[in-house]
Order: sequence, then C-alpha cells, then structure tokens
Amino acid sequence: MTIRVEATADGRFGTNSYLVMDQDTKDAVIIDANFEPESMLEVARKAGANVLAILMTHTDVDHIAGLPTLLEQLGPIPVAVHDAERHVLVEGTPLRREFAAEPPRLENVTSLKEQSHYRVGSLDFEVLHTPGHSPGGVTLKIGNLLFTGDALFAGSIGRSDFANSNGRALLEGIHTKLLSLPEDSVVYSGHGPKTTIGKEKRTNPFLSA
Ligand SMILES: [Zn+2]
Repeated sequence: MTIRVEATADGRFGTNSYLVMDQDTKDAVIIDANFEPESMLEVARKAGANVLAILMTHTDVDHIAGLPTLLEQLGPIPVAVHDAERHVLVEGTPLRREFAAEPPRLENVTSLKEQSHYRVGSLDFEVLHTPGHSPGGVTLKIGNLLFTGDALFAGSIGRSDFANSNGRALLEGIHTKLLSLPEDSVVYSGHGPKTTIGKEKRTNPFLSA
C-alpha cells in the first residue's frame, strides 16, 4: 500500500490539515479541519480522493473550524474524535473555558479509542491516546506515519497551560507512546513541518531527560 499525504496550512494559525490517501484505491481521510477548508477540498479534488471520514487529533478551534464547510461539500461523512472531547462536537460545548468560540454541532460523530484501530475503506489507523495538550488528544498512526496533532511538533511540544491541559500527561504520552516507535517514523504535526521520531529524540529541547 502506498499512502499519499498532502498538507494544507491556514494563514491564521498555521494549522495543518492533512489528506491521507491510499494511492491504489483512492480511499482517503482528512485529518483536522483548519480555517481554510477550501484549500483542502481543492487538494482532495485534484488527487481524485474518495474522502470517507474526517479524523480529529483534538478539538481546539483552529483544528475544527473548517468542519462545516468540509461536511457541506463532502456530505455527512463520519467525524471521528476521542470520547474525552466528543461533547465538543456533539453538544457544541467549547473545549477551552479560555475561548468562547462555539463549535459546530454534528450528527455523525464516531469514536477514536485508545489502542484500537479506526478502519475506513482500505485505510487502517491505530489510535494512540496522547493527552495533555487537551484531554482527548490522539496520535493517529498508519504504517510508519504519525499524525500527532498538538502533542508533538518539530522542535517543540504542545501548550499545556490551559485549565484542562496536563503537562505531565503530555510528556508521559510522548515518551511512552511516540518516542518508543522506530526512529524513522514520520511525524506530521498540527503545526509546522514534518519531522521524524529519531530527530525529535535527539534534538527536541523539551524532551531531553
Ligand atoms: Zn493547534
């Protein structure tokens, strides 16, 4: 299986959305929905992608902002999120008490469960719960590709200064679930460029023991 990954970043927060597609079947998902869903729709259209679901690494406003437009254009495909943040998308309660922004309320919400697989079409993602930036933060793993959301960045880690953040849990999740993976695992973050587990192990100043 050849997995193709395409990223779009929005101009406001530099938040990445990813198209992840099986090159053979064209089955695809979108991971996170930044402020410029039109760019992602264009990328998906050009790739000939059959987008079957939208997966959320977490539900901060800059990662869910594009959901209404994506769902309007792609139809009512499932949106998958960890149960600890399900209420954000089902009930429309903001993730952060620091931000008032009202999330969209969605009908078709499914669960991403720790250590279980999310399978859609020919794609199979392993779900790794990597909380701490937010309670339901997950890393989605397909082959040696990791979509880490705002847990791990190239050269940095996610903020943990919000009321529902937990800096210790964030570091623990990164160390036990991510840094234990093969060094050539490719990391696609919620913001910024891609990196590898090996590079972050050696150079990320937030992860030195
Ligand atoms: Zn973010």
